[in-house]
Amino acid sequence: MEELNDKLEVFSPATGEKIAEIVPTPLKSIPHIYKKSRHAFLTWSNLPINERLHYLKRLRLLMVEKMDEIAEAISKDTGKVKIEALVADIMPTIDAIKHIEKHAVKVLSGQKVTTPLLLIGKKSYVHYMPRGTVFVISPWNYPLQLAMVPILNALAAGNTVIAKPSEVTPLVGVCMENLFLEAGFPEGTIQFAHGGKELGAALTEQKPDYIFFTGSVRTGKMIGEVAAKQLIPTTLELGGKDPMIVLRDANLERAVNGALWGAFTNSGQVCMSVERVYVERPVYKEFLALLKEKTMSLRQGIQLKDDIGSMTFPAQVDIVAGHLEDALNKGAVLEAGTSPKEWNTGQTHFIPPTILSNVDHSMKIMKEETFGPVLPVMPFDTEEEVVAFANESEYGLNSSVWTLDEEKAIRIASQLITGAVTINDVLITVANHHLPFGGAKQSGIGRYHGEQGLKIFCHEKAIMIDKGKKNTEIQWYPYEGKYTRFLSLFQNYFSAKPNWVKFGQEYLQLIKISKGKRK
Ligand code: NAD
Repeated sequence: MEELNDKLEVFSPATGEKIAEIVPTPLKSIPHIYKKSRHAFLTWSNLPINERLHYLKRLRLLMVEKMDEIAEAISKDTGKVKIEALVADIMPTIDAIKHIEKHAVKVLSGQKVTTPLLLIGKKSYVHYMPRGTVFVISPWNYPLQLAMVPILNALAAGNTVIAKPSEVTPLVGVCMENLFLEAGFPEGTIQFAHGGKELGAALTEQKPDYIFFTGSVRTGKMIGEVAAKQLIPTTLELGGKDPMIVLRDANLERAVNGALWGAFTNSGQVCMSVERVYVERPVYKEFLALLKEKTMSLRQGIQLKDDIGSMTFPAQVDIVAGHLEDALNKGAVLEAGTSPKEWNTGQTHFIPPTILSNVDHSMKIMKEETFGPVLPVMPFDTEEEVVAFANESEYGLNSSVWTLDEEKAIRIASQLITGAVTINDVLITVANHHLPFGGAKQSGIGRYHGEQGLKIFCHEKAIMIDKGKKNTEIQWYPYEGKYTRFLSLFQNYFSAKPNWVKFGQEYLQLIKISKGKRK
């Protein structure tokens, strides 16, 4: 994308052609955007939840009707093959709406919780109240899903939303805006701001009530810093360097197919991509040979017959090249693919699927997020060693363990410091909206999807109700004469075998003292 006067020109990363011009959102309109959002909140937050869900349903049906059109827009904007737009961007979004429609009423309705005996006579509840204006900032790799899922959860919970999609994929930003318009959401409920990092930073400064950010660690830290100054709560969904662990008793063919798809789908531009594979030494050679053979059979292009599309963001191509060159300089061996010097990325941005062997943890390719179709493969000897390798990372988003021994798989999974682990599969936890999604370490702060996907966008409020008929409480003033009685009451109450008759008597004594008049 290039800035041209007051318009942004959009180029296809797969063909190099100009595909659109976008009018960016002017910085000066930001106060107005917030004002509109806060005004719309007054009505939207007061709608019964079922009415809000009705709007979501309208959007879902519209998306079903326009599925192919949306897939086309995503594919054009990102250079990914259309099937990936459909299966990994559109389907999870529509499925998220269905999930919200089914569960939001229960999740967001107040719940009664237990009140302990010491607080006898009271009732306790948890209530959920929308926060206000939620600011959603999203990246370019799954430009629909990663914007829509937080937006929809925030809206269902009664918030209004300002969304800033990635400037790298602006066509999808416009496509989402049009979908909400056509679905008839009330004005100001959801607003889109189109533009780059300056716009994102300026919107962050305007004190939204919640920030939901998906993107790089670098930007996440900047946003976290601004938010911390204003104590704005945030969710940060950041990068990854996900390990795949293949044990000698794995179904090797499945493991190879999983590695192939996990590393190369979306051209490796997935936060949960398989970015490094550790294979138990007795099956290492066989795994590598099969992986190499299958990699060679993949087809690159953007036709329906093709497997791997282009890279989306030209700057990412340079990062991938840098990691690959560093690895080759340090002795890594190219098993498939070519050196970056042979990449033919003029106006288009295709990187051939690449396999590396003879790698170690001194190389960037094993430590930093590559976010491209390059897969390094390394042998290991023991369970302890591979757990240490996997955890030797600043990131902790996802990981996978491959073995037919479920007990062993769970034993290893329980030691991995990652937000998710798949066993004999890759990436797939994100597709189950009942599971929490998020990262450990530098991969992020917070979780969404599941119940927390809705609850993070609410103030969780504790409510305790007393009928108000008693004049006082035992712990209120006066204190005189109560210390030894409380001591005895608590020692009995928290003992191994409480004497409930004694408890009742002591409690009544305390009530009596509380009611008594001081001389
Ligand atoms: P990025 O951090 O460069 O940009 C993300 C968004 O932040 C964009 O909309 C951008 O305009 C905006 N932005 C940039 N600077 C800003 C600032 N100072 N203030 C406010 N907004 C600002 O990330 P990207 O290159 O678009 O995305 C790729 C990264 O996202 C990778 O690291 C990937 O792992 C990560 N990612 C994480 C997840 C996850 O769920 N954990 C999912 C997808 C991608």
